[in-house]
Amino acid sequence: MSTKVAVVTGSNKGIGLSIVRALCKQYQGDVYLTARDTGRGQEAVESLSSEGLKAMFHQLDINDLNSITTAAAFFKDKYGGVDVLINNAGIAFKGADTTAFAIQAEVTLKTNFFATRDMLTHFLPIVKAGGRVVNVSSFVGARTLNQCSPDHQQRFRSEDITEEELVGMMQQFVDEAKRGEHKKGGWPDTAYGMSKTGLTTLSMIHARQLSKERPNDGILLNACCPGWVRTDMAGPKAPKSPDEGAITPVYLALLPPGATEPHGKFVSDKEVQPW
Ligand code: NAP
Repeated sequence: MSTKVAVVTGSNKGIGLSIVRALCKQYQGDVYLTARDTGRGQEAVESLSSEGLKAMFHQLDINDLNSITTAAAFFKDKYGGVDVLINNAGIAFKGADTTAFAIQAEVTLKTNFFATRDMLTHFLPIVKAGGRVVNVSSFVGARTLNQCSPDHQQRFRSEDITEEELVGMMQQFVDEAKRGEHKKGGWPDTAYGMSKTGLTTLSMIHARQLSKERPNDGILLNACCPGWVRTDMAGPKAPKSPDEGAITPVYLALLPPGATEPHGKFVSDKEVQPW
């Protein structure tokens, strides 16, 4: 049997690093720590090595299409595809950051939504039968959904929203934010929240597509919230350690062979959440 492989984006620190740590202990296969910066990535691999854990490394900047396609080609060539993909890389402006909202909207959506979508565009076709895909979203995205206009909420929740329509909505949010008109357009005042509302909705769209187009492949794809976790992003006051934040993403990544659910859900503390 060929070696199985798990890939985690943005895993040189924070929750991503803890996901890799847990997979190194629990996953029967090669585990790839990936990072946009090779130096930071290799340092993280060495820190795990000093704990007696063996992670492999591949450079992967999700904002760089060339980096995405190079990595996808590498995994296709070496492993015939990917068994587990965890899209964890993400950014957030600090609450106190005074950067104009228009820029926060564009920059945040670029990484958390559009670049994560690029990852899925290039990696979903190489996810193998029985594969598991986990998109690290946030409870903030669920809260933000409820702050959108009723029309937008209806579209985000609908079963017939297409990827193209969703991409259009996300672009509309950014464009209206740039004109200072996003509130009038029915969008709340949170770039991070909107990026995660988009990512969770995208996960649901992709799960429906997989069920339709690859019904016999048994791939399970979900979005999740790791909880509020002490990392550089969330700060020191958060209640969960990074290892605790890794629990739900890792649970979804290791759903046993033959499992049929959850699929296309938003999951927190290992429980499917309302959307
Ligand atoms: P973090 O400590 O800031 O780590 C973020 C990771 O993403 C870093 O490794 C960072 O790399 C990487 N990254 C950023 N942009 C990237 C890019 N273009 N390509 C590749 N990697 C990139 O944050 P965290 O708290 O662990 O967050 C991990 C995920 O959990 C994010 O998606 C976040 O939105 C989500 N989340 C976090 C919390 C929380 O309470 N912490 C709650 C809900 C959801 P660099 O070191 O190079 O910057």
